[in-house]
Amino acid sequence: MEKIDQWIAGIPQASSDAAVLSVFDPVSGQAYAECPRGSAADISAAVNAARSAFPAWSALKASDRAFWLNRLADAIEIRSEAFCLCESRDTGKPLALVREIEIPRAIANFRFFAAAATQSLDRAYHQEAGLNYTLHQPLGVVGVISPWNLPLYLLSWKLAPALAAGNCVIAKPSEITPMSADLLARTAQEIGFPAGVLNIVQGAGDTVGAALVAHPEVKAISFTGSTAVGHRIAAVCADQFKKVTLEMGGKNPALVFPDAPAHAAKSLVRAAFQNSGQICLCGSRILVHRDVYAAFKQSFVAESAALKLGAPADSTTQLGPVMSEAHFNKVLAYIAKAKGDGGTVLCGGGAVKPEGCDGWFIAPTVIEGLPMDSDFCQDEIFGPVVSLHAFDDDDHALALANASRYGLAATVWTGDLVRAHRMARELECGIVWINTWMQRDLRTPFGGMKQSGLGREGGLEAMTFFTEPKTVCIGNLPNG
Ligand code: NAD
Repeated sequence: MEKIDQWIAGIPQASSDAAVLSVFDPVSGQAYAECPRGSAADISAAVNAARSAFPAWSALKASDRAFWLNRLADAIEIRSEAFCLCESRDTGKPLALVREIEIPRAIANFRFFAAAATQSLDRAYHQEAGLNYTLHQPLGVVGVISPWNLPLYLLSWKLAPALAAGNCVIAKPSEITPMSADLLARTAQEIGFPAGVLNIVQGAGDTVGAALVAHPEVKAISFTGSTAVGHRIAAVCADQFKKVTLEMGGKNPALVFPDAPAHAAKSLVRAAFQNSGQICLCGSRILVHRDVYAAFKQSFVAESAALKLGAPADSTTQLGPVMSEAHFNKVLAYIAKAKGDGGTVLCGGGAVKPEGCDGWFIAPTVIEGLPMDSDFCQDEIFGPVVSLHAFDDDDHALALANASRYGLAATVWTGDLVRAHRMARELECGIVWINTWMQRDLRTPFGGMKQSGLGREGGLEAMTFFTEPKTVCIGNLPNG
């Protein structure tokens, strides 16, 4: 069994009561590591460590904080293969995917916010009522809570701006994928990152996560995860008037028009099934104009059925397993229910066992014939499953796309710029991609509307969230 630590004040340690959780390899379905099952006492210890580190960290010049974030990025890059191996082992993702996207993007997040640290948000106003300037000061100790689907990538997306703005952080990674956060803390320690500035407490959400959210000395919570947990966290934060951002679930529509570019079907297969559909931005409701529905269906289903599932280290593997046994059973139950609700399975539809893999693999599944108000089309399933629907015109496409309690992202596939702008305006979601998917400029706001999110991450939004603005007004001199 591999051993994972939690990191408080730069010191690797077990939980206060030595309790542990098993960590499973989704490819084999077997436990392969033990992770501390942190407690409220561990959160208190981490808060004390972070409070002690805060005066020195927040007093650093912005360029010195940028130096540390860049140094951490460099150190991850040097150990990049170790990060890829641990992330792939923990999640079952194809190694190629973590090498190409997730670890490079995590490194980029630290570099981006290192630069942002030196771009002050402070402003000055004069000639109206004295001289006014605004300070954007760090909040103090903040908590970041992340999910299992993109473990280091999403953690870095929160850690980097929180640290860049001068806060000290307690991170609570998912208990299902604790490995890369452990390696990150170990890396930070190895480069002499100031102790207590970045603390990692491992363990279950309803104990250690809840203790972090409820701690009165934790001034803000940045959460990414399910809408159900976000709802609970929001209630606790509201009670304490604590700042909170919530990045939650999605049920993203893709709108394919008759003038869609030729690459639409191929791109949408990637947008539907990358990471086995376990990305909050995956398109899971594919809406196609009736005139091109049959042709699109044929190529989309053929491409989906051809995806190769397998072991992460096999360079031909395109899809890995889903993340846990509970999740595997949940996805299969939705497929079974869809069949009962009138859906026709066009490809996939069940569990598979690629050669040498006994874990939680589900074949890419495409279903048609389901009403938009069915559970399959309304609930976030978060697996390799999508539904296809035909629409008649632009208004019908918008009505189907917006018929969801979620509002995270959408893709629109058309060669008509006027139509693209209308869709972008009227789709109820935080991100609209036109003829593309998952391209990211880190300066843009990131997040969702409706039950997908509250607040935004990214660029200026993240730096603003992790700071408190203060206005200072210097009165005019009597004859000024
Ligand atoms: P989850 O909500 O079960 O868990 C997320 C994190 O919250 C974990 O670290 C968990 O331990 C912790 N947690 C659980 N209960 C808690 C509580 N009561 N108090 C504090 N923390 C608690 O989500 P998950 O299953 O790990 O991840 C999948 C979900 O994440 C999906 O819904 C997906 O859409 C969402 N997600 C959203 C985005 C986005 O940017 N909107 C990105 C990635 C994933």
